[in-house]
Amino acid sequence: MAVQKDIGFILRSFNFRETSKIAYIYTRQRGKIGGLFKGFRLKRQHFSTPLDIFSLNEFVYYPSRSNLHLVSAAELIDNYSYLRDIPSRFYLASYMMELVDKIMPFHYPQEEIFGLIKVIFDNFSTYSLANSLAIFQIKILNLTGFRPSLTTCLRCSHAVEKEGYFSFRLGGMLCLKCFSADPQADKVSADIIASLRYMRDKDFPQVYNLKPSPSTMNSILKMLDAFISYHLQARLRSKIFLEVFV
Ligand SMILES: [Zn+2]
Repeated sequence: MAVQKDIGFILRSFNFRETSKIAYIYTRQRGKIGGLFKGFRLKRQHFSTPLDIFSLNEFVYYPSRSNLHLVSAAELIDNYSYLRDIPSRFYLASYMMELVDKIMPFHYPQEEIFGLIKVIFDNFSTYSLANSLAIFQIKILNLTGFRPSLTTCLRCSHAVEKEGYFSFRLGGMLCLKCFSADPQADKVSADIIASLRYMRDKDFPQVYNLKPSPSTMNSILKMLDAFISYHLQARLRSKIFLEVFV
């Protein structure tokens, strides 16, 4: 295959052998890919980027059949310095990368996910950390196979209009009649259900118009976190640091 040019966010990177580096990248055209940067640590001119986590870069690479592609050139587009100067922002952006890395298989392009990362980064300074976090989580779950059911009861398929129970284990709402299907399910108010649906369904920038009360937001973040931890079977490292701030 011919040489490819693409842009992408650095999900993580690590040193490889004596002088090289490997980075996992969420690219616009091919989704998650692995990049091998041969001789990267010799500071060659064709790599004009530090490959920092969550930076956006342009890459020229040779596609291979494996998950790892030889990158021949890389250039920094945006280092998002305003996300690095403040610890809360740094951990949120790092968490977003960790979640994308965990949730996305290799070579599964979804331009909406690329766009979602970018729009959240671009609006970081304007909106609250909790809002950015919840919107990112619910939208990425919805764009992948992890879509929590928020409209109908998982057990009887009746609409859950007002209050109901949220089962992170079963993957969504249970109605007031079926809640015993999961003894661990938490009761949730109509306000929480409506807020979650709004964040899932509205586009940018209207999605930011919703400003849930601190207690509603707190419940939403707990539900999403329980859902993600259970279904990905992973406690994300950056989330532990992020919890200090949200
Ligand atoms: Zn039901």
